[in-house]
Amino acid sequence: MRRLLLVNALIFAVLAASVALAYFGFSYTSDSRDRELRLLHDLAKEKVLNIESLIAEQDAKFLRGVQIDPMSDLRQLSTATGAAVASVFVLDDHLEIIPGGYAAGRLHDNETNAFRDWFMAHVLKELALKQAPPDERRHLYAYWGERPYLFTFMHRVANGRTFYVVIEDDLTYFVFTLFPQFFPPATASPRLYEVVDDRRTIRYGQPFLDIDKRAVEEPFTDTLDGWVLRITDRDPRVDENRRTLLNTIVIALAVAVIAASLGILAMAMWRERRANELKSEFITNVSHELKTPLSIISMFGEMLALGRTKSPEQSVEYAEIIWRESVRLGRLIDNVLDFSKIERGGGGYEFAETDVGEVVDRAIELSQRRLAAAEMTLDAEVEPELPPAMLDANAFTLAVLNLIDNAIKYAADGKKVELRVKRDGERIALSVRDWGPGIDRDEQPRVFERFYRARSVRLKPIRGSGIGLALVQHIARAHKGDVQLASEPGKGSTFTIWLPAVKVDRG
Ligand code: ADP
Repeated sequence: MRRLLLVNALIFAVLAASVALAYFGFSYTSDSRDRELRLLHDLAKEKVLNIESLIAEQDAKFLRGVQIDPMSDLRQLSTATGAAVASVFVLDDHLEIIPGGYAAGRLHDNETNAFRDWFMAHVLKELALKQAPPDERRHLYAYWGERPYLFTFMHRVANGRTFYVVIEDDLTYFVFTLFPQFFPPATASPRLYEVVDDRRTIRYGQPFLDIDKRAVEEPFTDTLDGWVLRITDRDPRVDENRRTLLNTIVIALAVAVIAASLGILAMAMWRERRANELKSEFITNVSHELKTPLSIISMFGEMLALGRTKSPEQSVEYAEIIWRESVRLGRLIDNVLDFSKIERGGGGYEFAETDVGEVVDRAIELSQRRLAAAEMTLDAEVEPELPPAMLDANAFTLAVLNLIDNAIKYAADGKKVELRVKRDGERIALSVRDWGPGIDRDEQPRVFERFYRARSVRLKPIRGSGIGLALVQHIARAHKGDVQLASEPGKGSTFTIWLPAVKVDRG
C-alpha cells in the first residue's frame, strides 16, 4: 500500500515537473522574443531622439545666431550652423519683414516673392509668434494644401529690440540627406528602416510587406510631428519564428511523451494489480477444485477398502466415481501445469503434421463419461478429406477438452453439444456449440483473460479457475490460429478455433 502511494506520488511529481519544464520552456521562448522586440524599440527611440536633437540643435543655433544690426548673411549662417533651411524670415515686432530679413532657396525670383507673400498671408498668423517666450525654439508642423511644412521659430530680444526669426525647414534635405546618415541601407544591416508621415505615406525606406506586423514604431514629437520611424528585423525574424515554432513543437512533444509514458505506466500498474488479485482468486479456486475431487476419491476409496458396498454393482459405481474424479483431477493439474509453463514464457510445443480428425476423436473419447454423467449428448461431425494441420497433438487435445468441459459445466441444461470440424478456405475451423445460458456481450472478450470468470457463474457452485479459455487462446495462437466466441445470452455459445491448413500438394 505504501509502495503504491509512493509510486502514485512519483507519477504526480514527474507530471508536475514536466508541466513546470514546459512552462519555463515556453516562457523562455516568448521572453527571448520580447527581449528582441524591446531591443528594437530602444533602438528606434534612440534613432528618433538623435535625429530630433540634431535638427533642434542646428535650428536653435541658427535662430540664435541671427543678428539684425546689421542683418546677418542668412545663407552663410545656414551653412555655418548646418541647419537645413529652405527659407528664413526675420520679422520685427510689428511682424514686418526686416530689410534683408528674407532668404529662400527658390530658383526664380517670382517664386521667391510668391512664397513670401503666401507666407505672410497664410502662415504668419498660425505661428502666434508674439505668444512665444523669448529665446525658446518653437515649431509648427502643418499642411497647407497637400504639402506639409515644418516651421521653426524663435522670439528674440537683442540690444533692446524684439524680433522674430522663422525657418522653413528643408524636409527634402531631411529625407534624402539626413535620414540616410542614421539608417544604414538594407544591404548593410540586418534591420529595415522606414519613416512614414502623419498620413502613413512612406517618406523613407522600402515597404516592409509581410514582415510589417512585426515592426516596432517610434513617433517624432519635437519636429516632424506625427511622423513615425518603423524598424523591423529582416530575415532573422523569419528564422526566429521558425525557431520559436520548433521549440514549441519539441516542448509539446516531450510533454506528450512524458504524459503518455506515465499513462502507460499507470495502466500497467493497474493491470498488474488486477492480475495479482485474480491470481490470488485463482489459487483459492484451484485449491478448492483440487480438494473436492480428492475428498471424493478418498471417501469412495475408503468405502471400497472397508468393503462398505451393498453389491458388486455398487462397487463398480464407486470405482467409476473414483476414476472420473481422478481424470478430472488429472486434467486440472494438466491445465495448471501448462498454464504455468505459458506464464513462465515458454510454450514448449512440438508441432507435427497431424490429422485434426484423429485428435478430435481422442478428445471426444476422453469426454464420454463426463457427458454421460451430465446426461448430455455430443454430436460430432468431421468433414471428410480434411487437409492435415501442424499440431501439437497433446496441447490441441487439451484445448478441445477445455471447450467440451466448459459446455458440460455451464450448458448442461442445453442437453447437447455440437462439434464440427470444417475446412474454411485455407483454414480448418473447429467449433463447439452448446445451448446453455450464453455469455453477456460485454463479457465475451473478457472470458479469454486469464482468471476471468463470468459474473453469472461466480456465485454458482460451478467449479472453475478461469484459466481454461486463456489456455485455449494461447494454444490456438501458438498454432498460428485463434479462437472466437459467438454467443447470445439465453441461446448458447459457439467457440471456434481456427488453424491454418497445411497446403497439400496434390500435383
Ligand atoms: P473456468 O471454467 O475455470 O471458470 P474458463 O477460462 O474455462 O474458466 O472460462 C471462463 C469463463 O467463461 C467461465 O467462468 C464462464 O463464466 C464462461 N464460460 C466458458 N465457457 C462457457 C460456456 N460454454 N457457456 C457459458 N459460459 C461459459
